Amino acid sequence: MKDVEVFFVGRANAGKSAVLKELFGLKTRVGRRPGVTRAPVRYQLDSFTVIDLPGIGFRRGLNGYRRVLRDVIDGERHKLRPLSLGVQVIDGKSFLEITERHFKPLDVDLFEYLLDSEIDPIVAINKMDKIEEPEASLDKIVSLLGMLPPYKQWADRVVPISAKQHDVAQLRWLISHRLQGMKNKNRGKPLV
Ligand code: GDP
Repeated sequence: MKDVEVFFVGRANAGKSAVLKELFGLKTRVGRRPGVTRAPVRYQLDSFTVIDLPGIGFRRGLNGYRRVLRDVIDGERHKLRPLSLGVQVIDGKSFLEITERHFKPLDVDLFEYLLDSEIDPIVAINKMDKIEEPEASLDKIVSLLGMLPPYKQWADRVVPISAKQHDVAQLRWLISHRLQGMKNKNRGKPLV
């Protein structure tokens, strides 16, 4: 499926580089500082393209970042580029900590922004190895993202992972499942 792009987005330090390394063996780390805006980087794999979007720094927020995201999202909409599947990587541990301090994690805004942009992202909740009471924590995270718990009913969208413990099999499966779905949906459609 060469005509599909899978883009990865998340806050700086969410573990996006670690996830891309685990999933595809990509070495995306180039000694950059978190939050520094880079252009999206594309990696052509055998069957699709992976786009690594820069990590969003918490200081600048989502506003300054929208142009970078729009480039990927609008590119698809205007048929400049192929269909894209979005994967949002969240640091589950820090998400919960921010929430405990009564702040709204930036990840919530990002998730809403993707939905508003008609991207139905896969949400990979990373660093599960650092989270006690995973079930209750995941229920809390999905409800803060605006979905009704239990999190298990969102299995086609939300997937707990730990890049550090090489536990990304479920995410890998979900990506290929979604890609298959996109392929079936577009089968037989005219090209223009
Ligand atoms: P990025 O900025 O989103 O690309 O984040 P990195 O992949 O560079 O990871 C940021 C930090 O989180 C690094 O210190 C990683 O070792 C750590 N990290 C990434 N994934 C995990 C995980 O699943 N569990 C734990 N405990 N740490 C992780």
